Amino acid sequence: MTSQDGLLIVGEDLCKQLVGRQQAVDAVQSVFGAMASGGAWNFPVVREALGYADALYGFKSGFDREGQVLGVKSGGYWPGNAEKNLTNHQSTVFLFDPDTGQLSALVGGNYLTAVRTAASSAVSIAHLARQDSKVLGMVGAGHQSAFQLRAAAEQRAFEKVVAWNPHPDMLPRLATVAEEIGLQFEAVSQQELGAQADVIITITSAFEPLLMNDWIKPGTHLACMGTDTKGKQEVDPALVAAATVFTDEVAQSVTIGEAQHAINSGAVSQDQITPIGAVINGDHPGRTSEDEITLFDGTGVGLQDLAVASVAARLADEAGLAQRAAL
Ligand code: NAD
Repeated sequence: MTSQDGLLIVGEDLCKQLVGRQQAVDAVQSVFGAMASGGAWNFPVVREALGYADALYGFKSGFDREGQVLGVKSGGYWPGNAEKNLTNHQSTVFLFDPDTGQLSALVGGNYLTAVRTAASSAVSIAHLARQDSKVLGMVGAGHQSAFQLRAAAEQRAFEKVVAWNPHPDMLPRLATVAEEIGLQFEAVSQQELGAQADVIITITSAFEPLLMNDWIKPGTHLACMGTDTKGKQEVDPALVAAATVFTDEVAQSVTIGEAQHAINSGAVSQDQITPIGAVINGDHPGRTSEDEITLFDGTGVGLQDLAVASVAARLADEAGLAQRAAL
């Protein structure tokens, strides 16, 4: 994105209006491919406790040379926001002209974080789930879960959603989405979810396993999306060890992703984890049998944020809808 015509400002409402699920899936798939081929890379993540307002604050940054996208997502978590009628997670994307370093766009990052995270698991389902998958299992029923369900549902001809959440009172959120998109819905136990689901998404803030290896049937694809910090965990490390493991970025998977626990215990080694971009690029076959369990460790990388923000900025510019400010 060039900055010749001044700074583009694309707010949250405009992002919602302009960036749909398919555009997010296309952008995320393309940048995962570029990351695996070395044409795009993420920079080290900064995340700090501010010691003020209980807030966590940080930066995720990267450069996609193939897509010509340079920028940073800045933001974090302010737990007191809900009381002020604001989202606890707050972020903004800054895009820069890769030729000059000038700021080219400011893009609201809250909605885009949810769609880019949902796009990530959706890309994994598109490439790794069995074609005949019929039952989608959801573990988690928070803010992200509805986005996850909508994007996943578009990847296979699912007939039914089975769901479990540690706080069952949150499950109506998923029941409502399932009904809206014409899928049956059933609230089930964790074991029953494993027994029925062909594809499972985990999207919780858990710090201990919620799904055990023995509960998962052969041929399942799992997208583990909640674990994005050291110490978090959603599934049994034995399940990670039993699965063929894919990720957005190996460096994050082994340190802050779901694979961290299996790596720490020595059950899995780093070279057993494949970037999903290698499958996208045709350099790895992905799933090789109907019985194989595949697991995508979606840790969330800055380049996903930049990819969808760049789509928002381009579409807003083309439609003449964004505000412009002089630099
Ligand atoms: P949310 O606060 O809206 O929902 C939290 C979910 O986790 C709910 O299902 C809740 O029941 C469950 N939960 C809360 N505390 C728990 C605990 N102690 N043990 C087990 N489950 C618990 O959050 P959200 O916005 O839906 O985000 C869900 C998770 O996804 C968070 O952990 C967040 O950090 C993570 N996330 C990951 C990415 C990524 O790119 N991988 C992106 C955004 C968010």
